[in-house]
Amino acid sequence: MTIKAVRGVHDILPVEAATWQHVEATARRVFEAYGYREIRLPIFERTELFARGIGEVTDIVQKEMYTFVDRTGESLTLRPEATASKLRAYIEHGLHVQPKPVRLYTVGPMFRYERPQAGRYRQFHQLNVEALGEQHPALDAEVIAMLIDFFKALGLADRLQLELNSIGDAACRPQYRERLVAYLRAHAARLCEECHERTEKNPLRVLDCKKAECRPVLDGAPALADFLCEACADHFARVRRYLEAMGLAYVINPRLVRGFDYYVRTTFELTTTHLGAQNAVAGGGRYDGLIELLEGPPEAGIGFAIGMERVVLLLGSTVETPKPVALLIPLGEAALARLLPVAQAVRARGVPVDLGYGQRKLRAELERANKLGVAHAVIVGDAELERGEAIVREMKAGAQRTVPLADLAAELCVLGGRA
Ligand code: AMP
Repeated sequence: MTIKAVRGVHDILPVEAATWQHVEATARRVFEAYGYREIRLPIFERTELFARGIGEVTDIVQKEMYTFVDRTGESLTLRPEATASKLRAYIEHGLHVQPKPVRLYTVGPMFRYERPQAGRYRQFHQLNVEALGEQHPALDAEVIAMLIDFFKALGLADRLQLELNSIGDAACRPQYRERLVAYLRAHAARLCEECHERTEKNPLRVLDCKKAECRPVLDGAPALADFLCEACADHFARVRRYLEAMGLAYVINPRLVRGFDYYVRTTFELTTTHLGAQNAVAGGGRYDGLIELLEGPPEAGIGFAIGMERVVLLLGSTVETPKPVALLIPLGEAALARLLPVAQAVRARGVPVDLGYGQRKLRAELERANKLGVAHAVIVGDAELERGEAIVREMKAGAQRTVPLADLAAELCVLGGRA
């Protein structure tokens, strides 16, 4: 039997590569304009990092990690997200001595054992951003503005909605949690099995339940916004004010609690109605305290992750795969030897050309030129060699002209826009 890719894991094929590269290049341009620098991180870490950094009672740690024991008996995990790794590196390399906030981004695959469906995979890719060491609410607004700028640059911003919430901090969340648990227990009969379990383990996550049967109870649940302490309420009000100052529209979603333990205060998500059930395209929040939890300095942090597969799905096939400018067709060995260095010189200037190897008939090569979608074919046979010329054929119109072989490389550069 032929071996196929693992379930929930997919190949990104050459026809999709231009779109992926466009998404990544746009992210780099936007993030770097805001002062973010790339950090490249390992794909696997000690399991303990995620258990501590994401939280023992989260779905990710309890059900979704790809964990294995290596030959030394150590438990390792394929990273399910990037924040914990980034903070580990930040602490390990003493990056906190740099001027604050320290702004870092990374791009790469994440691994979660989830039930695969459209837009949800077991290996997927994220663009991750963190700004560390600054707790001013203007940073929250600035980070969100950058996220929106990225989607504006891709022409997708009008298909997304910014959802915003504050989930309080260690000063005010415990009181809320208590009230919420009391409420959920009182209404347990009308909640699903999973909600019962979460009520005891991670009650805020109950608010996230998507099942219709649980909705009425959850709609009536006490709202965290009513429990925010003064400092959290002030922080949230200022984040909103700064967003408004930048003309950024948002909706408050009191149920936006997100799947990680580490968030405090600001949480946000970009959602869309264009992707079916998987409506979240990006999400993030503030995590003051997490760096300290990982035994770093007591510093604030905020970040987000963008799901690249979902961005690519939203973009559709709008980014064209680049095509060679010309197919060079040598008819025979001597012509091949003459055209090889021409192709090399042109490619060295960054102009993409394709080359036949002189074995096929002209008709077969012209068919290949059509399939490749090149605008021009350059034909050189023995007669042309003798005259020191090449025939340049416009594929669409079929019009042909001759160009001195000595000028061919320069001519191809002109056709490729590199005069
Ligand atoms: P999270 O790290 O869970 O906050 O997710 C951030 C973003 O990553 C989400 O908004 C999605 O766009 C994307 N994402 C998360 N999990 C998956 C998955 N299993 N497959 C594809 N994209 C995902």
